[in-house]
Amino acid sequence: PATVAISINKKNLTNEFIKASNVFSVSILPKSVPLSFIGHFGFKSGREMDKYQSVSYKIGVTGAPVLLENTVGYLEAEVINSIDVETHTIFIGKVVQAEVFSQEEPMTYAYYHQVKSGKVTQEVPAAIKEKHIAQDNTNGKEKENKKEVQENMKKYECEVCGYIYDPAQGDPDSGIAPGTAFEDLPEDWVCPVCGVGKDQFVVME
Ligand code: FE
Repeated sequence: PATVAISINKKNLTNEFIKASNVFSVSILPKSVPLSFIGHFGFKSGREMDKYQSVSYKIGVTGAPVLLENTVGYLEAEVINSIDVETHTIFIGKVVQAEVFSQEEPMTYAYYHQVKSGKVTQEVPAAIKEKHIAQDNTNGKEKENKKEVQENMKKYECEVCGYIYDPAQGDPDSGIAPGTAFEDLPEDWVCPVCGVGKDQFVVME
């Protein structure tokens, strides 16, 4: 039978839920997923909030929730075995349901780390890109000045999750245009990955 193994930290509420229900679902995220969406699930706990309140989902055949946004597909599984590995539990599940929603390229964990650390630029939707090009074309001189300023702008790293704010890229998901210095970010801006405030960021040398 088609089987899948997942490794879940014992401190996470999800671990308790899987042990109690003996089922789990896995949603496969596309490369285009906003970092904030990953942060919503990865850096917040269901003990403090209902993570599904603000997202589109359905209840699958196993009773586990399945995402309907920012997903290329999902698997649902019944646990047939589990292995205790100190900090984590490896759950082995028999796949009982699966669906493909889109042919978009799935995101790997390695790709996520590259984007988060600024090594790879996240794909910016074409509409946003065109808008910036149009703005750049209207004022050639301003663009040159901007470039000079950009070189003096420093990158800042989130001490909680390791996300790096790169002024050259901005934070398009939160409406921050490329070329925005960290100092010029609104005071209520939060880390797009883990949601902490600007005060949790340190300048990178
Ligand atoms: Fe963060």
